Amino acid sequence: MLLHILGSCSGTEPMPGRDYTSWILEENDGGLLWFDAGGGCASHAYAKGLSPLKVKALFLSHPHLDHTAGLPGIFQAIRKEKWLRGDREFRELPCHTSAPEVIAAADVFLKADAAAGDEWDFTPVVRELRPGELHRDGETAVEALPNRHMPPDPRSGKPRSYSFRLRFSPKHIVYTGDVGSLDELAAWLEQPTELLMAETGHHRAAELCALVRARHWPVRRLLFLHHGLEILRDPAGEKAKADAAWGAGVLFASDGMTVPLG
Ligand SMILES: [Zn+2]
Repeated sequence: MLLHILGSCSGTEPMPGRDYTSWILEENDGGLLWFDAGGGCASHAYAKGLSPLKVKALFLSHPHLDHTAGLPGIFQAIRKEKWLRGDREFRELPCHTSAPEVIAAADVFLKADAAAGDEWDFTPVVRELRPGELHRDGETAVEALPNRHMPPDPRSGKPRSYSFRLRFSPKHIVYTGDVGSLDELAAWLEQPTELLMAETGHHRAAELCALVRARHWPVRRLLFLHHGLEILRDPAGEKAKADAAWGAGVLFASDGMTVPLG
């Protein structure tokens, strides 16, 4: 299992060398689970040698553009790769989202690109996010938990913003997405967690470290991503503070980083 960071920046102003939030879990069989789709994530994945035809499912934590604007690029990459490889097998991509209209909008881009032709098309299949298990395939399961980063949809009352947990026995990875407070994820964090991937666009890394310690949550490793301005301006200084609060080395995501998960 490998974790690939495609973009490590929050939705602040554009930063040299950092694109908006997106990452991929590469399974041992080469299958890819794609989480969030900020910026030029499709190009970054391709440059790392990750084939778009290996993507099993896409998961969007919430419909803010720093997590979704790269969707048409993912769809284009799949279709182009189908054409390049003569692939006729890749027919559908499950897209887990609280905002089906975002998938529909990206599909409009795909359909408008008429030059590619129907032969290489595929269908993005909307899977509306809900609490609980979303995906299970071989060794990996993905679960969702609503959080308070965004208010519920005013028309339907449904949650718009989710965190994700990946389970591949016996390990758990928790990805906060954008989140109001880690306490919103207490039901997960009270269980042993191999890796907590926490956003710093709305939080200071050292404060998150201190909170995990104060709650005595059994988290083994911490990886920070979706960086806010404090980390973007002074990564070394913020990391020193986080390491001190955690009592060991934490990981700060950078674009193109790969983390082995064993
Ligand atoms: Zn964000």
